[in-house]
Amino acid sequence: MTPLRSDFGATGVRCCDVPGCTSAGEFRAPKARDRLNDYYWFCLEHVREYNRAWNYYAGMSEAEVEADLRRSTTWNRPSWPFGTAAKGEGPAWGFRDPFDLFDGESPNGERHDPSQPRPQSAEEKAFQTMHLSPPVTIAELKAQYKSLVKIHHPDANGGDREAEERLKLINDAYTTLKRFLG
Ligand SMILES: [Zn+2]
Repeated sequence: MTPLRSDFGATGVRCCDVPGCTSAGEFRAPKARDRLNDYYWFCLEHVREYNRAWNYYAGMSEAEVEADLRRSTTWNRPSWPFGTAAKGEGPAWGFRDPFDLFDGESPNGERHDPSQPRPQSAEEKAFQTMHLSPPVTIAELKAQYKSLVKIHHPDANGGDREAEERLKLINDAYTTLKRFLG
C-alpha cells in the first residue's frame, strides 16, 4: 500500500493527510477504533469531517478508508462525501455541509411544519372555550364561568338554541378545568 503523504513536508510542517489538501495537519484522529494510538493528521476542516464520518468508516479497513480519502479528493473538494455519510446514508456525492447547516433537519423536508398546530389537549380546548389562558386559580375560573353563563344563558338570548349549545360547551369546559385545577 502506498502511504498517504509523508508526515512532514519540505517545510517541516506536518501536512493534512487528505491527499490534495495543502493545509497544515494540526489535528490528529485515530485511524480505527481498535487502533486508537495510530493517527491521521488533518487540518481543522478535515478532522471535523473525519469525525463526522467516523461511523461511516467504522467497518472499513485502513486501506479502504485511505482509498476513500483519496477518491474523495480526486475530483474537486465539493465531491467530498463526508458530512451526510455519518448520518448513515452512505456517501452523498456532491453534497457538502461544512457548517452543519442541515444538522437536525432532514433534507427532504420532514421537519415539523410550524403552520400545522399539534392537536389540542382537552384542557387547552377548555381554556379556549372559557377565554382563559393558564395559569388561573379556581376562583378566577369560577368568576369567568359565572360571567360566561350570564352572557350565553339561553334566557339572556331569547331561548336561542345556539346559546344553549355554547352554554353546554362552557359547562363541559368548566368541569374539565375544575378537575384540572383541583
Ligand atoms: Zn485538510
